[in-house]
Amino acid sequence: MQPNQQRIKLAVQKSGRLTDHSLDLLERCGLKFTQSKDQLICVGENMPIDLLLVRDDDIPSLVSEDICDLGIVGQNVIQEKGHALRKNGGARFDQVFALDFGHCRLAIAAPEDTPFAGIQDLQNSTIATSYVGILTDFLERNDIQAQTVYFSGAVEIAPKLGQADFICDLVSTGSTLAANQLVPVHDVMQSEAVIIQTREPLSTGKQEWVDRILQRLDGVLQVRESKYIMLHAPRSALEQISLLLPGSEAPTVIPLDDDRVAVHAVCRENVFWETLENLKSAGASSLLVLPVEKMLA
Ligand code: ATP
Ligand code: ZN
Repeated sequence: MQPNQQRIKLAVQKSGRLTDHSLDLLERCGLKFTQSKDQLICVGENMPIDLLLVRDDDIPSLVSEDICDLGIVGQNVIQEKGHALRKNGGARFDQVFALDFGHCRLAIAAPEDTPFAGIQDLQNSTIATSYVGILTDFLERNDIQAQTVYFSGAVEIAPKLGQADFICDLVSTGSTLAANQLVPVHDVMQSEAVIIQTREPLSTGKQEWVDRILQRLDGVLQVRESKYIMLHAPRSALEQISLLLPGSEAPTVIPLDDDRVAVHAVCRENVFWETLENLKSAGASSLLVLPVEKMLA
């Protein structure tokens, strides 16, 4: 076996909305890369993992066909490409977990002056979209007869060109729609970036590295909002204080003297001033909240 077959290949969007977030997340997992001259592959310096920089649309099939072991891509792309892959026996990858970036929604939007009371108003209309697969499924599920028109980009100009009555496109802030005098009228799906893994079994060595990377990714995601909280409290208030600690499992309790204890806990949610005030009212003192840098369960 060639040595490079032992290296993990992770497909990441080459240039677009997911690129910086993906690279930043991998960097925070401790991965270091050198970018090659052709900029298609970034070679991992400190772990046997290389990045393939590709168009996001290609990521589901690269992982499904086992050309890459892992990929980072939006659920919208996975679902849309799932249609094409279904024809070839189905997508052969699993979504491992969501990565909490690339949040957007696929929504139907109408020109501002179009009255819209509900999705039945889509009946017999023409809808422009780059997401023909997802839209067709949505229309079928809702028993709506409508014509879909494929636009590879700039979908929002279709109504102005007289090509469609509605559009179905990705929205995050809605500013692109507003600039084209369109308003979102119905959400078809919510999406965020996810990490996917091929279903093809990996060699033991490779799987161990994949597990290690996934564990680090999970750790990075968990610490984002996590805080380490320390406080002193009367032993009698311990139960109430434990209940007030947001998103924390069993706190560590250290006796200070007969009546008082120190409590240390990781809170997996942000700790707001209000929480601290409530803890103080319950008897806590010397409260300290610290950011968590790394966490390994
Ligand atoms: P590529 O050249 O890789 O095909 P693209 O133009 O298809 O790029 P981008 O516009 O960079 O893709 O979007 C990549 C992904 O970012 C989308 O598929 C989606 O999951 C996510 N995303 C988040 N917010 C938005 C948004 N407002 N508009 C479009 N995509 C968004
Ligand atoms: Zn794309």
